Amino acid sequence: QAKLDGRNTFRFFTPEMQAQSVRALQLENALRRALERDQLRMHYQPQMDLTTGRVHSVEALLRWHHPQLGTISPAEFIPIAEDSGQILPIGEWVLRTALQQLKAWRDRGFADLSMAVNLSAIQFRQPQLPEMVSQILAEMELPSDALELELTEGVAVDDPHTAAATMNQLHARGVRLSMDDFGTGYSSLSQLKRFQIFKLKIDQSFVRDLGNDGNDRAIVSAIIRMAQALGMRTTAEGVETESQLAFLREQGCDEAQGYHFSTPLPAPELETFMRRRLA
Ligand code: C2E
Ligand code: MG
Ligand code: MG
Ligand code: MG
Repeated sequence: QAKLDGRNTFRFFTPEMQAQSVRALQLENALRRALERDQLRMHYQPQMDLTTGRVHSVEALLRWHHPQLGTISPAEFIPIAEDSGQILPIGEWVLRTALQQLKAWRDRGFADLSMAVNLSAIQFRQPQLPEMVSQILAEMELPSDALELELTEGVAVDDPHTAAATMNQLHARGVRLSMDDFGTGYSSLSQLKRFQIFKLKIDQSFVRDLGNDGNDRAIVSAIIRMAQALGMRTTAEGVETESQLAFLREQGCDEAQGYHFSTPLPAPELETFMRRRLA
C-alpha cells in the first residue's frame, strides 16, 4: 500500500501502521461527538495523606465509553485529542466537571479536600488558561488553592517562555502546580524552582519495584529528600503493596496514591471510601 503525497514521494505503510492509523482516525471522529453524546465520565482516585491517614486530594481521571468501540483508555485517546485540538473543549469540560464535584464534596463535609486535574501541554500553551481556571473556580465558589493542576515534564519543552509565563500566572492566582510522573520526562531541576511546583508526583515506574530494586529505593529516597529541601510535597504514584507503603513512610513521603488504597472510582463510590476513612 503506497500513498502519493504532494511532492512525488511515496510513503509505504505496513499493514500494522495502516491498521493503527485507521483506528486513530476512527477514534478521532468518534471523539468529536463524545462530549455532546455524553460519553465522557470522570473517575476519582484518592491521594492519601500519610501523616493523617485522610484523603488529602482526589485526582480526576477521564473515562470514555463508546457504545460500539467500548471503553477506550485515556493513554490511547488523550494523544489523539491533543493532535486534533479536541483536548481544549474536553479539558475545559474536565475542569468544570471535577471542580463542580469538589464543590459538592466540600459542601457535604469534606471541607479541606483538594482536586487534582491533569492538563495537557497544549492547554498550558493557551494564554487564556489562567483566566479560564479562575473563572471556573469563581463560578463554583472555590478558593484557588483547592485546585492542583498536574503537568508533565514535557510541558516546557516546545515553548518554555509561554509555559513559564502561564505557570507563573497560575501560581500568582493561588493555584497549585504538581509535576506528574516525575523522573520520566525531560525536565531539568532548574524548572522545578522556576515553575514554583507545589507537589512532585513520583512516577509509578520507580515505585513498582521498590521491594527488590535497590536503585529504585535510592532514586525514590533522593527525590523525597530533594523535594523536602525545596519545600515541595511528594506523592508516590502506583502504590499497590503494604511494603511499598512502609518504605515510603519511612522515607518521609507525604502522600501515596494507588490500588493499595483505591482504584479510580465514580464519585458516589469514592464518597463512600472517604466516609469510611473519616469514621
Ligand atoms: P496519570 O495522571 O499519571 O494518572 C495515573 C494513572 O495510573 C491512571 O491511569 C491511574 O488509573 C493509574 N493508577 C493509579 N493507581 C495505580 C496503581 O496502583 N497501579 C497501576 N498500575 N496504575 C495505577 P489512567 O486513568 O488510565 O490515566 C492514564 C493517563 O492519562 C494519566 O496518567 C494522565 O496522564 C492521562 N489522563 C487521564 N485523565 C486525563 C485528563 O482529564 N486530562 C488529561 N490531559 N490527561 C488525562
Ligand atoms: Mg496525573
Ligand atoms: Mg502520573
Ligand atoms: Mg502518567
